[in-house]
Amino acid sequence: MLFGYPVSATAENWFHECLREILCSIHTSLKAATTLPAWPEIIPARYRKRLEKRRGLEDRLNNYKTSLEKLTTEEQNRILQAFHDQNQIDLLLSCQLNCETITDLPKAIHEPVKNLFEFGFELLTKLEIRDKHYKVIYDAAPSHTCPFCGCEYFDAPEAPREALDHYLAESKYPFAASNLRNLVPMGNKCNSRYKLAKDILLRNDGTRRKSFDPYNCTGIRLSLENSQPFAGTLTPTGQLPQWQIEFSPNTEEVITWDEVFHIRERYERDVLNAEFTSWLRYFKSWCKSANIVPSSDQELMDALNRCATHCEEMGISDRAFLKAAVFRMLHTHCQQGDQRLISLIISIVNPGQTNLRQAP
Ligand SMILES: [Zn+2]
Repeated sequence: MLFGYPVSATAENWFHECLREILCSIHTSLKAATTLPAWPEIIPARYRKRLEKRRGLEDRLNNYKTSLEKLTTEEQNRILQAFHDQNQIDLLLSCQLNCETITDLPKAIHEPVKNLFEFGFELLTKLEIRDKHYKVIYDAAPSHTCPFCGCEYFDAPEAPREALDHYLAESKYPFAASNLRNLVPMGNKCNSRYKLAKDILLRNDGTRRKSFDPYNCTGIRLSLENSQPFAGTLTPTGQLPQWQIEFSPNTEEVITWDEVFHIRERYERDVLNAEFTSWLRYFKSWCKSANIVPSSDQELMDALNRCATHCEEMGISDRAFLKAAVFRMLHTHCQQGDQRLISLIISIVNPGQTNLRQAP
């Protein structure tokens, strides 16, 4: 992903912490064959006032407890262990820990767990935890853009809510469904067209893979330097470059990100191919606004370099990181003496100049 979220956004994780304490006391009381306090005393005192009227939570906790009672101590322990492991988000994403999924656990507990944590996730909105979480992320973002693609805009906190993705899919890791550390605001396209319920921890063949940690990610650089001008798709406006999209550092996390979100495919189809011609026209108007009329190879290269720097300074906003990479690549190829490319760009920027004068 292109940048990470501040982990401080997950500080208001009290509901998940509360649920963890309640589950632990249910498991402990079953093991010790002691009587569990009734609702609302079962809620730790410091959270009780905020939750005592949430009787739907009481019902689901009762179902969980009733189903758990019918299982062996060993099965109960496995379930509690899965709860703990599924919430070690950073360790799971970096492949330092594995966890059991819900389907690995006894069938009798599947529905009670799903119902409890689905309900818990819904409560995050009602308890205003979700909106506070989003506001911290929105206010801290270098650009109000989805960091998973860098192309979708995030609306302001007062607008209808953006998608909140269960980074570890709820269908397999329901115990993490109300843990803010596992919940990430995500653009609607990334969320509902690409990521869907894909398993961020496992490849299609079932092997483990590393994934970016959205709350501990410093970002990556994109380069198009090895793209080939005039070697890509032929369009009515000319032949596009053959794009070579590279990321550095090129880690296993990048591979997962690309597989899950179809990053290269989307950049090539929806941005680079779609915008290349309009970005050349952008370069023309940029030159005009900067009072630059390139009439030699060197002047053209200087202008490309300045325009690339200008776009780089814009960061993620308005897909400028992709635009910057395009101008950087064009600059490199012009520098390497690609006369066909130089002629193409000059014919757009300075159509009156048919034969370039070489700089002295
Ligand atoms: Zn996105």
